[in-house]
Order: sequence, then structure tokens, then C-alpha cells
Amino acid sequence: MKQEDLFKNIVSHCKEYGFIFPSSEIYDGLSAVYDYGQMGVELKNNIKQYWWKSMVQYNENIVGLDSAIFMHPTVWKASGHVDAFNDPLIDNKDSKKRYRADVLIEDHIAKIEEKIAKEVEKARTRFGDAFDESQFVTTNERVIKHQNEIDEIKHRMNTALEANDLPAIKQLIVDLGIVCPISGSRNWTDVRQFNLMFSTQVGSVNEDSSTIYLRPETAQGIFINFLNVQKSGRMKVPFGIAQIGKAFRNEIIARQFIFRMREFEQMEMQFFVRPGTELEWFKHWKETRLNWHLALGMGKENYRFHDHEKLAHYANAATDIEFKFPFGFKEIEGIHSRTDFDLSAHQKFSGKKLQYYDYELNESYTPYVIETSIGLDRMFLSVISNSYKEETLEDGSERVVLSLPPALSPIKAAILPLTKKDGLPEKARKVMDMLKMDYMCQYDEKDAIGKRYRRQDAIGTPFCITVDYQTLEDDTVTIRERDTMAQERINISELSDIINAKIRL
Ligand code: ATP
Repeated sequence: MKQEDLFKNIVSHCKEYGFIFPSSEIYDGLSAVYDYGQMGVELKNNIKQYWWKSMVQYNENIVGLDSAIFMHPTVWKASGHVDAFNDPLIDNKDSKKRYRADVLIEDHIAKIEEKIAKEVEKARTRFGDAFDESQFVTTNERVIKHQNEIDEIKHRMNTALEANDLPAIKQLIVDLGIVCPISGSRNWTDVRQFNLMFSTQVGSVNEDSSTIYLRPETAQGIFINFLNVQKSGRMKVPFGIAQIGKAFRNEIIARQFIFRMREFEQMEMQFFVRPGTELEWFKHWKETRLNWHLALGMGKENYRFHDHEKLAHYANAATDIEFKFPFGFKEIEGIHSRTDFDLSAHQKFSGKKLQYYDYELNESYTPYVIETSIGLDRMFLSVISNSYKEETLEDGSERVVLSLPPALSPIKAAILPLTKKDGLPEKARKVMDMLKMDYMCQYDEKDAIGKRYRRQDAIGTPFCITVDYQTLEDDTVTIRERDTMAQERINISELSDIINAKIRL
């Protein structure tokens, strides 16, 4: 199946089974805003818990925070967002469609990358087992030509973006002959900067009102509470503050489902370190965060690092962890060495000292910061798109299964009485009451058992427990495993141990 079709199927599966609905659907939806349904909210909570445990619970020197979405407007002056949180946008005069100029260029690069991938595949078929991919890409003339082309485009784009040279970005789009995907024309406006922050008024609208912003990242709530947490928690550098919460960005182009939303959730951790040690910690967090992803078992080959060439104004090192989504490798998490930029800026703008006294060194300093920032919704998309499988079974029938990591599955066990009579529902309810105190379970007695298995496969339930006539005699049930569909007869008293062993990460 084509990746595009697969992605469409994933999106409709998410709606059909209560994972994700378009926001305000009865009013024809609101672009780039989504609601999480009854299954989605469980999966989302499980991802949050997986992150929170590994960051806050397992690290004695990391604590949590839940700061407000609204903050004093000067926070965003200090952080640089009022002046520099911009995307370069360009309009096509014929289709009247608006694009992010850098994304148009990146899409063009992706097309050249596809050409390279095709050359590689062709050669792989030709050479068979003897094929050495790294040798091929460094020696094949056509591949080298394409790669040089990509390098040159990237260089021009990054230089222009860094210098905020908008005419140069437009010129690059013109030189590359990029056309509007809708109108097919090259009739472009000039490139303009567009600030991504949403603003609103606080106080009565006329007199003493002032403009405040919906936070575009959760990080600043951590920085402005740095001293509160450090003092009240008696934290010693190095230490971290972690937070999960909503962020808002007025994204110009909103596409690819929940990949790029206007309202989304972030899981961020700011780690405060001694100046001069930040690059060691950067390396530590880069490895630690990749291992966190890999522990889910979704395939090492689906992740890669992308080190930034163009660094943000606050960073001295930055990398993205990219995941192979159905539409290609894209950023899922950012790891940034933010220097002392934020704390120093808040110190300057607030006039309050934001320093740490290090008893070991006997001196005060402004700590440096390593940030790990992951989008909860992108993580959700990675998990669901990696788990979605359309399978043809041995008997020729088809099933859709979500092979979710069991720890993240919305429902851990389904309890299914074989029939609706003869005391089976009552017995099944007892099993349900026993298990539901520990994790999410679902009771289902409607339709034939095979159909009920399919419904559970489709929402990624790792175990189906069937209560039948034998259960009434000897307290045994059958337990069916989702991925292998293997069934085993066990005693009810063994259920908890078997399920617990599988759903732990
Ligand atoms: P992009 O380049 O894709 O716009 P970014 O580099 O601006 O992302 P960061 O500011 O580093 O993103 O934000 C940290 C994380 O927040 C990203 O890795 C991503 O997972 C998530 N994120 C950012 N913007 C969005 C969005 N509009 N919708 C969903 N998740 C987002």
C-alpha cells in the first residue's frame, strides 16, 4: 500500500475507534485543532505517565511543575518570542494559499532525497547481497550530484534564514522553480515574517487591559520559577524541572493531522548545570532521550538524530530526534543546550537576581540549561502510526490491529463472557471487578467472540480473557494474546501476574 493511503487509513481509524476527532466537527471543524476521544485520552495519559516516571520518578534530582498558561507579557519580551518567534511566509497569488517559505524549500529537498533513495533501491536490486549502501552513496555519480545539490540548497537557505534575509529566501524559491502544489504556478508574493504567538486581552477590554499571550512553549514557566523550585525544594545543581502542558502556536500551514497543531501539548524538562559542563550534559541527555524512545520497541531504524546547523538565538548546541512517520523522517523531540540565555534575560528584564550559590565552588553563577522538549501529540502519532497494521490471516480473513506497546495500550484487558446467559456474564463481571482496580479493562458481551476479538485488536488491547462454561466448573479462563493471537487456558488467580508482567515497561 502507498504510504499516503496508509496514512489516510490511520487517520480514519483514529476517528472510528475514538482516538482522535476533528475539533468542532459539527461546525465543519477547526483547522489544526483536534480532540482526543475515549481511547485517545487513555493512550495520551499513558504516554505522559511513561515520560513523567522516567524523568521525575526515576531521577532524584528532577522535580515536576505545573505552571500557568498565562504569564506576564514581559516574559515573552525577555525570551525573545515577541521579536523573533517568527516563520517566513509566502503566498501564491493564483491559489491564494499561504506557505511557510522554509517548508516549501524543505519539501523540494525531500523530493531530491527521494531520487537518491530510488537510486539506492535500484542498485540494491541489481547487486543483491553484495550491495554496500555506504560505498554506493559515496561513489555513485548521480547520487553525488543530487547530494551536492541538497547541500547547496541547505547552505543558501540557512544563510538566508540566519541573516533574516527575506529577499534571498524568495530568490531561492524562484531559482529552484518551486511551484504552488495547488495552482501549479510560480506567481509568488514576497516573503514576510509572521509571529506565531496568539494574543488576547486580560482585564476589561477598554481601560486597564493589557495584551497577554498564550504560551508557545512550556519552558518559560520553568525558567521564571527556577528560584522558587530551587529554594523551596533545596535543589542542588545539577537538577531538572519537568513539566507537561499545553502550548499554542498560530502555525501558518497546518497539515499532517496531529503532527502540526495550533493547540498542542509539550513534555519539557530544563536541566540546570554548572557553566562549562553543558556540552557533557547535552551528550548525556541526547543519549538518554533516544534510549527512552528505543525502550518502547518501535524499531531502532525508525529513529535518527538531526544535528542543527542553524542554531536558535539561545543555543550553543541542538539536535532533533527524528522519527520515521508515514510521511518521512520528521522531528519528534528537540534537545537544546540553551546556555544561560533565558535566566540571564529574565534577570535583566525583571531586575531580580536569578543566580545559584554553589557551596562546593564557593561562588554564585547563572546556571546553564539543557532542555529536552517533546511534543506529546507527535509522540502519540509516532506510536499509533507505528502500531497500525492491516493483516491477512491464515484463513484469508483480514484484521486491523494496533500492536501498541502494552504499557501504552488504552485498555489492558477485555473480559468477554462466551454467551450472554447461564451465569457467564455474572462470572465475567467478577473477573472484571477484580482486574479493574489495577488497570483499564473493558467488559463486552455483544456479538460473536471473533468479532469482539477484532474490536479489541483495533484498539490495541494486549489481552482478551474469555469466560466460558468450563470457567464455572474450575475457575479457569482462556487468555488470548493480541499480536500472536495465541490462546492459553489458565487459572483466574494467575491473570494478574501474567498481565502485569507484560504491561510493565
Ligand atoms: P517544527 O520545526 O516542526 O515547527 P520546532 O522545532 O519549532 O518544530 P520546538 O520549538 O523545538 O519545535 O518544540 C519542541 C517539540 O514540540 C517539537 O519537537 C514537537 O514535537 C513539538 N511541537 C512543536 N510545534 C508543534 C505543533 N505545532 N504541533 C504539535 N507539536 C509541536
